[in-house]
Amino acid sequence: MAQIIDGKAIAKKVRDEVATAAARFTAERGRQPGLEVVLVGEDPASVVYTRNKEKAALESGVRGKLHKLPASTSEAELLALIDRLNRDDTVDGILVQLPLPKPIRDQAVLDAIDPRKDVDGFHPTNAGLLAVGRGGLVPCTPSGVMRLLAENGTKLEGARAVVVGRSNIVGKPMAQLLLAANATVTIAHSKTRDLAAVCREADVLVAAVGRAKMIKRDWVKAGAVVIDVGMNRDEVGKLCGDVDYADVFEVAEAITPVPGGVGPMTIACLLENTMKAAAARAGG
Ligand code: NDP
Repeated sequence: MAQIIDGKAIAKKVRDEVATAAARFTAERGRQPGLEVVLVGEDPASVVYTRNKEKAALESGVRGKLHKLPASTSEAELLALIDRLNRDDTVDGILVQLPLPKPIRDQAVLDAIDPRKDVDGFHPTNAGLLAVGRGGLVPCTPSGVMRLLAENGTKLEGARAVVVGRSNIVGKPMAQLLLAANATVTIAHSKTRDLAAVCREADVLVAAVGRAKMIKRDWVKAGAVVIDVGMNRDEVGKLCGDVDYADVFEVAEAITPVPGGVGPMTIACLLENTMKAAAARAGG
């Protein structure tokens, strides 16, 4: 039976740390750290995500501001807003909620964000800094997973880590962070042959795929630590991860639930990144 890694409790701890840092920053600088969240259009999931991000910021003493733009916004108009936010000294973090409505190009917009304010960590400059081990702003979800592993006391040095999924926002940066922590890392994806056997080698298994309950008990080595990034709906519409939780719970040493595992960490780490960006821009 696995230990449950409580993402809600650990996220609360991170948010408390952010609140302390934000209060100190505000007292020293005479202004709050500022996070600007940009939403274009009315995709229902994006509306909820951006509202939650703004609310979480405000609760932690970060000045959160949500810019709601109509779906008819042009790429040029959006780029003009980004440019204004880049040049505004009171703005520490800029987050553009993806996906953007067509024909706006996600990448063109992400590339326009000042890398020092890129609190999602998606700008190629930050991806490059992570790849060469030189800091920068790290994507929130993998950063949150590292914190969950640290809080669980998982030893990464020399461990075999398998990351299933190779997206730029989760899988790739996740693998980079595990590598930087001296794990031996395998990245698996949709073309991986005998995925079950690859997963079975993992001491630490991170699933970031987007397929409900794909990872079964016989894919997991006894005593492995299993981190489930997936957010899917099961056959009855209930939120579930990429891991068959009830099944894998029996063999894993520790496991994150969905919901209540990685999810709450993503927003907490976004606030943490905002504080990092604010401190770095303020010169410390
Ligand atoms: P993407 O769709 O961008 O990437 C999915 C990855 O999984 C791809 O690399 C793909 O491989 C791989 N994959 C797809 N099918 C299979 C398969 N059958 N076997 C092995 N690998 C497969 O998704 P994201 O990385 O953006 O997100 C992954 C999951 O994490 C989603 O459920 C998403 O909702 C969730 N998520 C959760 C967050 C949170 O806060 N908890 C934040 C971000 C994402 P290939 O490259 O070959 O196509």
